[in-house]
Amino acid sequence: MSRRVLTVLAHPDDAETMAGGTLLTWARRGDRITLCLITDGDKGTADPNDTREAVVARRSVEQERAAARLGADVVRLGYADGELQPTIALRRDIVRVIREVRPDLVLTNDPTTWFRHGTYINHPDHRIAGHACVEALYPAVKKASYFPELGLEPHVVAEVWLGLTDHPDAYVDITDVLADKIDLICEHTSQFPREPTEKAFTRMARETGAARGMGAAEAFRTLRLSASTVRALAEPASE
Ligand SMILES: [Zn+2]
Repeated sequence: MSRRVLTVLAHPDDAETMAGGTLLTWARRGDRITLCLITDGDKGTADPNDTREAVVARRSVEQERAAARLGADVVRLGYADGELQPTIALRRDIVRVIREVRPDLVLTNDPTTWFRHGTYINHPDHRIAGHACVEALYPAVKKASYFPELGLEPHVVAEVWLGLTDHPDAYVDITDVLADKIDLICEHTSQFPREPTEKAFTRMARETGAARGMGAAEAFRTLRLSASTVRALAEPASE
């Protein structure tokens, strides 16, 4: 059955790098994907002479090319890159997008990830994107009493997948789409030179897969939500 999948992430390229293989697999299975970009990645340049407008224009073209490979729609919230905060305004914007798109599954960042691999600090925008999205998902998006001014029906998202996580419980085998994932990431030409990108993402996918006997994989922490938390706890689904 075709599902609606919504990614809620901070920057152009976040969906592709975190979950490109999974999204390609789902898209080819018939799922309809919407990429919600909280920022336009306007700090994504090393050139001090670049203007904000030039960076946004360049990255928008790259994002459209990547989205075309996924057959995905792109929704932009236009927040400033590098300055995300988990505000009520951001929560409301994410609630609006979720109520409009009405996804079966939302993919965002694990907001608890501060560090990765003992070698780098997670970008604060990634943590905050996950933080704001999780706070939008519960309880706001499903309760009519939150943000009634939006004039949109509440919505229950059945599944939440969190990427860049240290607590994975779901592994997607991306062996057959790994090369396509690298092509997808490399659509973001200004950010990802092909050779190191290919090496880095191949290595990471192979390492993630090795733990599960897969040639290459992406890993996620998952939640299954229901309309009534107390009913779900009273009658847990059989495993
Ligand atoms: Zn990012």
